[in-house]
Amino acid sequence: MTTIIDGKNLSEKILKNLKEEIIENNYTPSLAVVIVENNPASQIYVRNKNKKALELGIKSQIVELDENISQNDLEKEVERLAKDNGINAILVQLPLPKHIDAQRIIEKIPPNKDVDGFHPYNAGKLLSNQNPFAKPCTPLGIIKILDEYNITIEGKNVVVVGRSNIVGKPLAVMLTNLNATVTLCHSKTQNLKEICKSADILIGAIGKPKFFTHEFVKNNAVVIDVGISRDENGKLSGDFDFEDVKDLTSFITPVPKGVGPMTIAMLMSNTLELYKIQKTYSN
Ligand code: NAP
Repeated sequence: MTTIIDGKNLSEKILKNLKEEIIENNYTPSLAVVIVENNPASQIYVRNKNKKALELGIKSQIVELDENISQNDLEKEVERLAKDNGINAILVQLPLPKHIDAQRIIEKIPPNKDVDGFHPYNAGKLLSNQNPFAKPCTPLGIIKILDEYNITIEGKNVVVVGRSNIVGKPLAVMLTNLNATVTLCHSKTQNLKEICKSADILIGAIGKPKFFTHEFVKNNAVVIDVGISRDENGKLSGDFDFEDVKDLTSFITPVPKGVGPMTIAMLMSNTLELYKIQKTYSN
């Protein structure tokens, strides 16, 4: 029997708890989201993040910048937010325009305001299995899903396909820290099908609609679909061919309403955690 994971419902539970914690304690967390690229998808993500934050009682501001902004001016803008004591969490929406060196921008965010956990300080802490200020939201949301559905990680063969710095790589590290045996695959991986077929937990994060069919999935595997694309009919689609693989799996995340809502919930959770850390040190 397949269990379809309800990421939407789980995220709503998490958001409700965060809202209660904020109200009960009179917390005043604040988030700044910087958006540069004039990309409709990014703009939708940013507006959704902003709306969700405001619903929870998180002060949220969108800093919209011209897509022709220079590296220097963008760095200055992030530095301004970094110095602002009224801002606890900074997110720079990726991707940035091609003329911008994104890594240098990320490095301008103070590690204790780095809500995405992308700063090398936080990435290094994660790699050393120590506590970063924040862990990347999508991988963190996936770990929460596995935990909530009592899916054992320790000792399992986990295959992660996609090695981006925002999803695949940090996820592989987090799963390794939780004692999984992790194989991290990418576009140059040979025998991808065979490797995927050996996975107890198979995670696709490549951005290719319906790429993974039943040929990639072991019987009873747990499937986590991170990909979000539009298919040929304009319908939202994950990296897995859901109908083709569903019956083979023990658990599967749908797209939409799987990993996506958990990413936003983790962003809110990280914002609150950063606020609490800064509050502790300023008292
Ligand atoms: P990305 O930076 O574009 O990286 C894609 C990765 O997939 C790369 O490592 C690439 O390999 C690998 N890849 C591409 N084609 C492949 C193939 N045919 N076989 C094996 N590996 C392949 O992507 P990303 O930012 O991690 O995002 C991946 C997907 O997740 C996108 O659809 C994105 O929209 C979605 N996403 C969803 C959420 C969410 O909240 N649900 C959050 C973030 C991203 P190389 O490294 O060799 O090029």
